Amino acid sequence: MIVDLRSDTITRPTPEMYEAMMTAELGDDVLGDEPTVTKLEQLAAEKMGKEAGVFVPSGTMANQIAVKTWISPGDAVILEEECHIQFYESGSIAAHAGALTWTLPSARGVMDPKRVADRYVPGSIHSPTTKLLCVENTHNRAGGSIIPMEVMRDYRNVCDDKGMKMHVDGARLFNASVALGVSAAEIAKYSDSITFCLSKGLSCPVGSVLCGDADFIGRARYVRKRLGGAMRQSGILAACGIYALDNMVERLADDHRRAYEFAGHVAELDAFDVDMDGLQTNMVMVNTPTPASDWSARLGDLGVRCMAVAPRRLRFVFHREIGDAQLIHAKSAMSECARGVHETSNR
Ligand SMILES: *Cc1c(COP(=O)(O)O)cnc(C)c1O
Repeated sequence: MIVDLRSDTITRPTPEMYEAMMTAELGDDVLGDEPTVTKLEQLAAEKMGKEAGVFVPSGTMANQIAVKTWISPGDAVILEEECHIQFYESGSIAAHAGALTWTLPSARGVMDPKRVADRYVPGSIHSPTTKLLCVENTHNRAGGSIIPMEVMRDYRNVCDDKGMKMHVDGARLFNASVALGVSAAEIAKYSDSITFCLSKGLSCPVGSVLCGDADFIGRARYVRKRLGGAMRQSGILAACGIYALDNMVERLADDHRRAYEFAGHVAELDAFDVDMDGLQTNMVMVNTPTPASDWSARLGDLGVRCMAVAPRRLRFVFHREIGDAQLIHAKSAMSECARGVHETSNR
């Protein structure tokens, strides 16, 4: 058995999604008449409590479009120092948007709102204008941690006070929504723009939706076209997105439950140190006593795939293709690895 815990992005479409793709009504979205894409965009906007949405090929492109739409080259953006936009988007915030980034440290992805306010610099003949705050919820490198609702509200207040816009990278927003037991719109209401991925825990093959007010989305469509992200019969993909928004959100709670069970098991093994406070959704971060790459290789031999995200840190992500049988297999592989260490140290 191969248990692939590298990422929730590996989830493949369900039989129902294949059916939805087969039967989707298609048009040409670049020409503006793709009925299934339009339906997905409206549904997504409704879920986010926003006026409009635009379907894009990836979460990375959604973020890049948002930043590029909100700022002009040379403007400043405040973001958390290990956020996806800064860390994992191939430098595109600099290359495409021409942003100057003010990065802030955080506690598990949560920047102190006061430090955000202090970092704001009004434009002058000397200084760049700080136009945008980006917030990641849930936070990927912090291990799927949630930005508390009161902090989201504080960020909103800082942005209103300073005249900044707020973009939320909600690649896994629905994980936060399900874990907190609040609607996605309840979280999204603090943002000016928000994006979420269909291609992660929601199991779609491709795609993200960027949402905001109608004027912003109109301008975002232009930027999407400029970046080459406008697609033709993309209703074939949007059909999966509609299915996912209707059927795949509630089940994220199962991924969270299995992540907690796995983490609880690993925490009992002497070899590892698990960040239990950081465990809030579907990711488990495990610190290893020796290089993480050695552990991931050993786990690979035992049929468990994970990712070394730092020199001594492994990441395990739970998703739809990990059922209880896979969970049991992963737990016993961790036990076997830990026993290996024990035997070595006794020798
Ligand atoms: C996965 C992810 C994205 C976008 O990923 P794509 O692979 O480009 O779809 C953006 N932000 C966060 C926080 C992510 O985890």
